[in-house]
Amino acid sequence: MRFGPPPQHILCQTEQAGCGICCGAENFIDRGSHAHGMRFKKRTQLVEAADFDISKLELIKDQLLEEEHPYILSSTIPTCPFMGHVGPHQRGCLIHPSRHPEGLDIRDISVHDQETCAGFFCTAHHVLTETEVAIAQHVPADMYGVMLTNIDLMKSLRRVIEGQRVRTLQPFDIRQMRWVDFWQRVALFPFVDHSPERYGLVRLKKSGETSRATLSRLPLEESRRRQPIHRLIISLSLQPEHIEQYNQLVELVEDAIRVL
Ligand code: SF4
Ligand code: SF4
Repeated sequence: MRFGPPPQHILCQTEQAGCGICCGAENFIDRGSHAHGMRFKKRTQLVEAADFDISKLELIKDQLLEEEHPYILSSTIPTCPFMGHVGPHQRGCLIHPSRHPEGLDIRDISVHDQETCAGFFCTAHHVLTETEVAIAQHVPADMYGVMLTNIDLMKSLRRVIEGQRVRTLQPFDIRQMRWVDFWQRVALFPFVDHSPERYGLVRLKKSGETSRATLSRLPLEESRRRQPIHRLIISLSLQPEHIEQYNQLVELVEDAIRVL
């Protein structure tokens, strides 16, 4: 596989958070913070103890792939055991050349080849605006990758805020907003679809196939009238079962946006 030049602004890491989605960081049935924390902690301890010894790392890789296999959602998605904690709340590549004492890139031992590890940059790099990237940089650190790569969420959230404020937003505006309050409110929203297959607008099956999540029990004209808030609700993995629940969510979203 051949890749073009890297994008001007690489999104995989911020000062506080890391993504790791393309390394399979979220390809687990249990994606709760406790399960993630235990998983990444164990990986980090084992990999750091190997101190970049290739034969030890290969054994660790085999061990972790076997141990984690029962907890993986789709075995068709490469899930790399070298994705761990590179900072207190920050996910990242434990064998990245920037961590190697001589700067060597040994990522051919991973679940991808070295060229893919070094050269792949996902859709978010090409389709998110600077304002939407600024929004992603204000989500809680452990949700950074899930939110950043949820393109519909970033775009519909920006559009809903702009609709409420009746103006176009710049990255500067985003940095002035009260995002901690906002995400705390979102975390309390009811009618969340907790099924492991649900990733915002997409359902991922064990087979690796995906399908679009919909709110099919709602009147079509209501969902059209409510755009882009309708898209935001689906992107947040919310699944109201009838119109009263849906209207309740619309109010909660509008209130949360007002506190920003
Ligand atoms: S999914 Fe995108 S942002 Fe996340 S680590 Fe991969 S390339 Fe980087
Ligand atoms: S070795 Fe490659 S696939 Fe594994 S965590 Fe690092 S960048 Fe991701």
